[in-house]
Amino acid sequence: MTQQGLKLLLFICSVCWAITSFSDNLISAENQKEGVSVVVIDPGHGGRDLGASFGNAVEKNIVLDIALKLGTTIKENYPDVKVIYTRTTDVFIPLYKRAEIANKNEADLFISIHVNAVGARSVQGTETFVLGLHRNEDNLEVAKKENAVILLEDDYNTTYEGFDPNLPESYIMFETMQEEFQGQSVMLASSIQNEFRDYAKRLDRSVKMAGFLVLRQTTMPSVLIETGFISHNGERQYLTSEAGRTRLAYAIFRAFREYKSDIEQRSSFHLVTENNTKPVNNQNTGSAPSELPLAQSAGRAQQQKTDDVFYSVQIMALTRKLETTPDNFKGEQNIFRLEGQNLNRYFSGNFKSLEEAEQEQHRIRTKYPNAFVVAFKNNKLISVKKLSGH
Ligand SMILES: [Zn+2]
Repeated sequence: MTQQGLKLLLFICSVCWAITSFSDNLISAENQKEGVSVVVIDPGHGGRDLGASFGNAVEKNIVLDIALKLGTTIKENYPDVKVIYTRTTDVFIPLYKRAEIANKNEADLFISIHVNAVGARSVQGTETFVLGLHRNEDNLEVAKKENAVILLEDDYNTTYEGFDPNLPESYIMFETMQEEFQGQSVMLASSIQNEFRDYAKRLDRSVKMAGFLVLRQTTMPSVLIETGFISHNGERQYLTSEAGRTRLAYAIFRAFREYKSDIEQRSSFHLVTENNTKPVNNQNTGSAPSELPLAQSAGRAQQQKTDDVFYSVQIMALTRKLETTPDNFKGEQNIFRLEGQNLNRYFSGNFKSLEEAEQEQHRIRTKYPNAFVVAFKNNKLISVKKLSGH
């Protein structure tokens, strides 16, 4: 073969490879189900594992009742939604089994329900966790407590590959797990906290991140709810009252309803960009603005062709609507916003390839540690199913 022939062959091969890998990404993204039709509700603990307790008040009983109330309300309002419980009676279920139930049933959502306890009796409030690396010791403590359940399992060392719930080092791996679903998990978690605060009049301890084993193994958006402190007199009374548990369950249902309609109305999301005319405030960031070549400027996102696909990096999701100017985003100049009913997501850059988006993710994580790659098709957010090798 001549040298030119060889070059041509190599060129054709690389084009074929590019097309195949790109379309594979599209197919796997499209295979992701839209909507919320299967929900797994996971009442924590059970059987010989009491969870937190104070006098006669026991976590495993409280959370089972809230879970059943939540499931019943979902079924009443959405007969088409399949509600699956990890337990409906007082039995011991290992953590890995709970995730397995959700994965086997191809759930669209996993909701784990718990009750908190702490030494200081004045501490109160509700908090909702998504999986991630804890940002402070308090969050780590909650995760340690919930993960300690595995010590009651027969072969936990093998099942959880040597994970030691008491060693902070064990938690490093949670940094990058479940990141594909983090945006959606945060969305549901924010709604739950809003409803707890506004509807159930609970003290809002906010959405948090920590390494919960039960969330690690699920392959769908997942949250772990701490419905209050059994160690606090007022909250214990609330949690052990029928009215309190009913209110909490209904607050979670309201958040579920909001999340479901938000997800299912994604096609009505619209991209918003503003002219980034304000100067970059380098004094605050101490770093130079992006010099990465963009496939297309973010400002042109609205002129995408109908079948266009592009990648970007979600840096955060907030209920607040921020102007996408550099001084609001640590000097970043290619930020655009996606407005939802309750949540505004912020993204950096617009890339033709997953590789470029991953480079951007790597770069921007120095400023936004929880940033993750997303994909858009027809200006609609779709999930990126990573191919092996990426
Ligand atoms: Zn618990």
